[in-house]
Amino acid sequence: MSGSSQTRRIVVVGGGISGLAAANRLLELNANCDQKVEVTLVEATNRCGGLFGTERIGDYVVETGADSFITNKPAAVNLCERLGLADELISVDEQFRRSFILQNGRPIPTPAGFNLLAPGEWWPLITTPLLSLFGKLRVASELFVPRSKSNEDESLAAFVRRRFGNEVLENIVQPLVGGIYTSDPEKLSLKATLPRFVHMERTHGSLIRALRSQPKEQSGEKVSGVRYGLFATLREGMGQLTETLQKRVESLGLLRKSTQIQSISQKSDDQGTAKYRLKCEDGEIIEADGVVLAISAYRMADLIADLQPELAEKLREIEYASSAIVVSGHKLSDIEHPMDAFGLVIPHKERRRILAVSFLSRKFPTRAPEGSIILRTFVGGAMQPEELQHSDAEIAATVAQELKSIFGVKGTPDFVKTVRYNRAMPQYHVGHLDRVKRIEALADGLTGIEFAGNACHGVGVPDSIQSGESASEKLWESLFSAPEMGTPVA
Ligand SMILES: Cc1cc2nc3c(=O)[nH]c(=O)nc-3n(C[C@H](O)[C@H](O)[C@H](O)COP(=O)(O)OP(=O)(O)OC[C@H]3O[C@@H](n4cnc5c(N)ncnc54)[C@H](O)[C@@H]3O)c2cc1C
Repeated sequence: MSGSSQTRRIVVVGGGISGLAAANRLLELNANCDQKVEVTLVEATNRCGGLFGTERIGDYVVETGADSFITNKPAAVNLCERLGLADELISVDEQFRRSFILQNGRPIPTPAGFNLLAPGEWWPLITTPLLSLFGKLRVASELFVPRSKSNEDESLAAFVRRRFGNEVLENIVQPLVGGIYTSDPEKLSLKATLPRFVHMERTHGSLIRALRSQPKEQSGEKVSGVRYGLFATLREGMGQLTETLQKRVESLGLLRKSTQIQSISQKSDDQGTAKYRLKCEDGEIIEADGVVLAISAYRMADLIADLQPELAEKLREIEYASSAIVVSGHKLSDIEHPMDAFGLVIPHKERRRILAVSFLSRKFPTRAPEGSIILRTFVGGAMQPEELQHSDAEIAATVAQELKSIFGVKGTPDFVKTVRYNRAMPQYHVGHLDRVKRIEALADGLTGIEFAGNACHGVGVPDSIQSGESASEKLWESLFSAPEMGTPVA
């Protein structure tokens, strides 16, 4: 790489995990090179972390956003290791590893070995009360359902109905998947969200056959990273990761909080090199040679609408769901149910007013003091948006009623905290992959701007980190390798 005396300014917009990971990657790339690069991270609110929210309430470590991450996608673990946080990673406590599904108001264990869409073991399927005899026979008949001849994208619901029947969809798959994506399975793209099942059908003709042919540790919940369990978090909470990243940005780059970017325009400097002008809410202009956008798709669309209207239109096609989470701390002695699981998911057909309950301190016991438990109750999502029209106090009261009715939770909780996530969860609807292809083709024409975040290639924390790091690497490449960098295309 040839050196240059000119300082290049790179601005990352968005201080969630994607933007922090993007800024960190730029600082890593800058560490051993002879370029002069100034990295600025701009965050609209007065705190970094976005959908991460860790706080201490008494002896509880409260997570109001993401509570852990999957380790078989390596980006999060790798980042923690590079940041010197490897020894801070903790895995889930196996003691209570199982989940419940609500049926007729009662929590019933999910059949052991059930792999989100398909059973991995016969006996738990045969004995589960979650399905009727007919439902079980229909699931078993999946072995004889011909594979699809079409290569078209399909909704998750259509796929499950075609292979396993409606009962397993309504009673098991919809709540399990809804608990992850807060989505409507009738709209969710199978190819974009769970491509491994498309592959299983193609290669084995049957998901049951595919799962049974895999070694046990690959077939489902037992999948794990080499060193850590399937899910990991940090000792002090997920905020430990974003705080460490924030400190790095503050010490090696620039961090501007409470600064909202409103629009981006382009102009050429005296040498004809394009520069971007980022206009802040208060009218200030920040100039940049390169930009990483690590915000929601609809916000990206607002920023680049004048630069590339067609791209903005495509970004706006990605729908988002809203949700609220009520986090509460309870004495175990105030709860009739033993709460001996990681959580509960609720089928839509049960007509309850909550989507799922995660028993955080059953997964990570140090999150609650001895003899207590933290519950995280999810409300709203794509299937029940009407629940979010109520006030925070009404939502918390609804949750208290539901927890009482399902688990026998009584008494006064040690704390209750309600947090809303407005249009926070992108919905990968049928056709998502084609839409993303088109978005990326259009974005390629916008030299010097890269796109990160959870809108296109996965909603999990490792996906978000990967998106930020990849965007930074691509931008670095385009800034310092391509002679035509900055040439206006639009
Ligand atoms: C309730 C909930 C629980 C979740 N739990 C998990 C979990 O346990 N495990 C998991 O893997 N995933 C989980 N996820 C998903 C995961 O947390 C997110 O996908 C990920 O954190 C997204 O990070 P991000 O940086 O892309 O976006 P965000 O966290 O949304 O960050 C975007 C940031 O950009 C800022 N911003 C927006 N517009 C502008 C602008 N114009 N100018 C400047 N700044 C701007 C925002 O203020 C925000 O700080 C959860 C999601 C939710 C909603």
